[in-house]
Amino acid sequence: MASLRREARDAGLWAHPVLPNPYSEKLNNLEFSACAEIMGRLPWAPAVFNCQPPDLPNMIMLSEAANSKQKEEWLNPLLTGDIRSAFAMTEPDVASSDARNISLRIIKVDQGYLLNGRKWYISGAGHQDCELLIVIGALEGAGSRRHCCLLVPAKADGVTVVRKQGFMGWEDHCAPIAELTFENVLVNKSALVGAEGEGFSVAQCRLGPARIQHAMRAIGLGETLIELMVARSAGRAAFGRQISEFDTVQGWIAQSRVKLEQSRLLVQKAAWKLDREDHSSVWKDVSYAKIAVAQSVHWIADHALQCFGAAGGSEDWPIHGALAWARAFRVFDGPDEVHLRQIYKAESKSENPDVLFEYGLA
Ligand SMILES: Cc1cc2nc3c(=O)[nH]c(=O)nc-3n(C[C@H](O)[C@H](O)[C@H](O)COP(=O)(O)OP(=O)(O)OC[C@H]3O[C@@H](n4cnc5c(N)ncnc54)[C@H](O)[C@@H]3O)c2cc1C
Repeated sequence: MASLRREARDAGLWAHPVLPNPYSEKLNNLEFSACAEIMGRLPWAPAVFNCQPPDLPNMIMLSEAANSKQKEEWLNPLLTGDIRSAFAMTEPDVASSDARNISLRIIKVDQGYLLNGRKWYISGAGHQDCELLIVIGALEGAGSRRHCCLLVPAKADGVTVVRKQGFMGWEDHCAPIAELTFENVLVNKSALVGAEGEGFSVAQCRLGPARIQHAMRAIGLGETLIELMVARSAGRAAFGRQISEFDTVQGWIAQSRVKLEQSRLLVQKAAWKLDREDHSSVWKDVSYAKIAVAQSVHWIADHALQCFGAAGGSEDWPIHGALAWARAFRVFDGPDEVHLRQIYKAESKSENPDVLFEYGLA
């Protein structure tokens, strides 16, 4: 990995979407979507190009929202690839799909801020090189705009990795997931990104890119799964013919192609719009892409597993990991239902009261 990373950096293929970036040519979102798709074919490939989650959106967030001292301390070593990072928002004790519930306690003291609480399902926090935790918590006594974003050294006194976590028996070896406790963790005032109470708007700088970049990579994963299904079903026979000759299996492969093509177009449309407009006006397109990709790749992985029989659920093939990851993608970066609710709200605002009349129904 170290020599591959050196080669990629020397070739200018390095953390492309982070700007400014002395190591890479500038790629816009649409251009990057093609690269991310290729990287997404293998779980470890994004790390070769320093484009791995969660570091890539974390770097984008720091480049947009951090001050120059914070950039020097954290963005520079992330950009050179010397350290790793994690974004710590979700908590076991509250429904974290509603960010307003986030309740890790932040108390303002003379020396800075004191943190107490528990986070879980934090991707990358279990990585041996993880040095930075970007923590969202609630400032005590600060009213409704109380959420803050703090840059916390992962090895600070009081931060404990309680355990590594998996999802449906799958472990993320590229960004190991962990549960963390914060017990009287003291950081100084310079750890605050943005102003007190701006935690969500700071977090938004990374959540938008994180969603669309996961979707871009997932298209590549879908391509790998289709190729595996084609090769496996052509290479094995049952009941007197190749498995690929059964209509059912042909249907799975063809449907997978249709779903993936639709998903890719939605991803590219969202990326194209992000190159022209602010994220706040493109959120619907990002949501369409996120939902379509997560559901499609989940469907494809489920059918790939069926196509492989028992081998599909084994550790010998990447299908079990792909299925677990795609299932998780329907929960992280906003569960399907949260995006769908927002989309419904936007649709209902554009209600045309005359539509029933136009169709002669009122
Ligand atoms: C593999 C993996 C990696 C992750 N990495 C990170 C990470 O790096 N950092 C981090 O902070 N978190 C991470 N998470 C956590 C993830 O972001 C949360 O699980 C997600 O936000 C949902 O929060 P929750 O689990 O508390 O579910 P809850 O908030 O308890 O929601 C449970 C369910 O309730 C339903 N629901 C919720 N809201 C609505 C609604 N408005 N309408 C209809 N139904 C609704 C949905 O079905 C939802 O799935 C990760 C999770 C996984 C699985």
